[in-house]
Amino acid sequence: MSAAIVREIRIDPVVPTQSVLISTARGNRPRRDEQPVARDMRSIVETCPFCRGNEHLTPPVAMQVPAAGEWAIRVVKNPYPVLADDFLPTGLPAGIQQVIEGYGHHEVIIDHPNHGIALHQFTERHLTTLFGVYRDRMRFLYEADPRIKYILVFKNFGKAAGGSMAHTHSQLIAMPIVPHNVHDEVESSREFYQRHNACVFCTLIDEAMTMTTTSFDRRAGERRQEYETGRYIVERGERFVAVKPFASRYEWEVHILPVRHQSNFLTTTDDELADLARVLSRTMTRLNGVVGDVQYNYFLHTVPHLKNSGDFADSFHWHLEICPRTSIPSGFELGSGLFVNTISPEEAADRLRQIVIPE
Ligand SMILES: [Zn+2]
Ligand SMILES: [Zn+2]
Ligand SMILES: [Zn+2]
Repeated sequence: MSAAIVREIRIDPVVPTQSVLISTARGNRPRRDEQPVARDMRSIVETCPFCRGNEHLTPPVAMQVPAAGEWAIRVVKNPYPVLADDFLPTGLPAGIQQVIEGYGHHEVIIDHPNHGIALHQFTERHLTTLFGVYRDRMRFLYEADPRIKYILVFKNFGKAAGGSMAHTHSQLIAMPIVPHNVHDEVESSREFYQRHNACVFCTLIDEAMTMTTTSFDRRAGERRQEYETGRYIVERGERFVAVKPFASRYEWEVHILPVRHQSNFLTTTDDELADLARVLSRTMTRLNGVVGDVQYNYFLHTVPHLKNSGDFADSFHWHLEICPRTSIPSGFELGSGLFVNTISPEEAADRLRQIVIPE
């Protein structure tokens, strides 16, 4: 691990309009003696509407796993939706300033009956089921409502990450537009594909996993090989890989992607989700090891549901973006898409890899 000072502007390879200033000079480093607001770690809270026994306090259930008996995962309408289906979009005025009415669906996925459980404490089986619920709920909503163009699945965990409810949960917002950042990724990766005839995400994974081979003592007839797996790989499964992005916006940001090209999360099989669960669980264990009771947001980015979605099948690659939040912004946004980061992604990846995972 080199302690050299890094001072670089890095252009995000996926969305080149976004850049990160990496500046690791000591004076820029924040103090480390402050902890984020403590998280509610109780396993059951009598007054919590998401805890078992309080089901009558939530809106009616939209989906439940298992379907009968005690639930393990429960999907309900968000009691405070940011978008709602109680009115229909009318004709929009054609002008520069357009309004899109707040039409859509906003659901809460109660991840686990245990109120304060952290993701790396879920069994891998439970995590597999959770991502299966995301997939099945997305499939259902796209089928039920042709107006929906994108479904954003995300999780805010902990107050530092804007989690409004202490009980562990994810959210799903089905909307009639494609959010700006996803649109940027879709368009930029298509431009990359047109120039290089390759998916930019696949290219990044290949680069991150490249191994170098060194041969020694050829004359002696001995051939020793040295393999150096990529610096940016944090965790590797059979089908998924966790990567520290070269131009990370946040110091502990990690992305998980399928190793084999796949544009659409909706086409994942249960077997694939089981490997995703393993990689995610181990990645969260590493983040907890480095950050300590990590509070974070994660976002699922998949190809939008458009008539021409097929055009992006070769160029877009679905992924999960995990963005841990620390109390002191050691990564922050200067605005205009410029982020500053005081720990180099290389050092962050090294530290994450050093965490020993109990088997
Ligand atoms: Zn609860
Ligand atoms: Zn790809
Ligand atoms: Zn993304």
